[in-house]
Amino acid sequence: MLVVLANAALIGGLIDICREVIAANADHLSELDRAIGDGDHGTNMRRGLEAVYAERSRLAYLPLPKALEEIGLTLVMSVGGAAGPLYGTLLIETGRQLAGSGDVDFPRALERAIDAVARRGRASAGDKTLLDVLYPVHAEVVRRAGLAGVAEQAERAASLTFGMKAMRGRASFLGDRSIGHIDPGAKSCALLTAAICRFLEEQSPA
Ligand code: ADP
Ligand code: MG
Repeated sequence: MLVVLANAALIGGLIDICREVIAANADHLSELDRAIGDGDHGTNMRRGLEAVYAERSRLAYLPLPKALEEIGLTLVMSVGGAAGPLYGTLLIETGRQLAGSGDVDFPRALERAIDAVARRGRASAGDKTLLDVLYPVHAEVVRRAGLAGVAEQAERAASLTFGMKAMRGRASFLGDRSIGHIDPGAKSCALLTAAICRFLEEQSPA
């Protein structure tokens, strides 16, 4: 029973803080997307996290891998835009890897999920997308940098997209004019990563 409660508090808490950080930054994310896209990234992400929050009481009582998979499916169905299937793939694949046979640990599951996102978006590192946050975050996780280190790296990585030229998604239509702006998907990814790290840090015993 205690294990079930701990799991429910963890999943419920993660849903809450992701929803909060996206709601608080939705206007900023849409503003970033207005500069190099169509201005809807904040609205898209907020719609997705609200849809997840609406299912919170059910999702929180699932085993973590299953919850991740179902949250991913909800994001695919509700976010709209390119970001929905990409974030969806990340969570669905992380959940499936963790649930699969064999002892796949979290860093390995994350690595495979990020590769699935890259395949889905036909994108690579340096293309100015959310992958430019996911790869460095994964590297920090593997390095066991600690939660504060992972959060910092995520934020630094999002800032570095400023100087990149977009090669995928709507921003790529701008060519060189996409340089000089932070990628909205990279920014949402950094905000979510940092919020998750802060939450997990608060949960871990001092
Ligand atoms: P849309 O571009 O359809 O309006 P969003 O505005 O919600 O969707 O999301 C845009 C973000 O999605 C971009 O900032 C980028 O990080 C990410 N993105 C778009 N296309 C791709 C892709 N092919 N591969 C990886 N990430 C992508
Ligand atoms: Mg957009």
